[in-house]
Amino acid sequence: MLSPSELAREVVRRLDALHGRPVWQQRMPPLEELIACILSQHTSDNNSWRAYQRLRERFPTWEAVMKAPVEEVEEAIRPGGLASSKAPRIQAVLRAVAEHNEGRLNLDFLQNMDTESARRYLLSLPGVGPKTAAIVLCFSLGRPVIPVDTHVFRVSWRLGFFDRKVGEAKAHDLLQQIVPEEDIYPFHVHLIRHGRQVCKAQRPRCEQCPLADICAYRQEITTTPPPAISSHPSQ
Ligand code: SF4
Repeated sequence: MLSPSELAREVVRRLDALHGRPVWQQRMPPLEELIACILSQHTSDNNSWRAYQRLRERFPTWEAVMKAPVEEVEEAIRPGGLASSKAPRIQAVLRAVAEHNEGRLNLDFLQNMDTESARRYLLSLPGVGPKTAAIVLCFSLGRPVIPVDTHVFRVSWRLGFFDRKVGEAKAHDLLQQIVPEEDIYPFHVHLIRHGRQVCKAQRPRCEQCPLADICAYRQEITTTPPPAISSHPSQ
């Protein structure tokens, strides 16, 4: 039986062999990543990307977004949904960043902070929670932090890293302790792909899964006998 860390290494090793080792590349600078992340909440990737593009096209600078009437920001990001709550949040975040950074609207100073200090700063911004902070730290700053989204959470509990009842916030802390630091980024990327393509929410394709022999969920469903069929009273 593999320890949790050995299991994490083995999962990454097998998925590296199948898909290649994911190599970190910055997706966007940290402020852009943060705003895109706020826009992505409770909507599809396509809709949030449309909202982000419209926002950037409508306003030439972040300063223009910050100073615009909130209704104009709302209008620009409407395709992303929840525009009436996201628009004031985006403006509040921009105001907080400007205030902290002597008027400069960027988060480049996070590059010079250690991971915990950068995380604390991000969490101090209006409406920024642990998942959003983890996304900025991981994708924009290349820090060894695992954002736990629905796919990472589902595949992780099925593989047996923790009980599904722990919830996503605690799952993040557990995975941070389990997954070796050098494997954190590949682990995250692989589990998202695996959750989308193989370990689907409704019908996991266990027969085609390269992790089936080390998966707790698979072992449980193949070793649990089907419920006994009660005999008919008349028999
Ligand atoms: S064996 Fe099934 S449940 Fe386990 S990781 Fe693979 S697809 Fe998911």
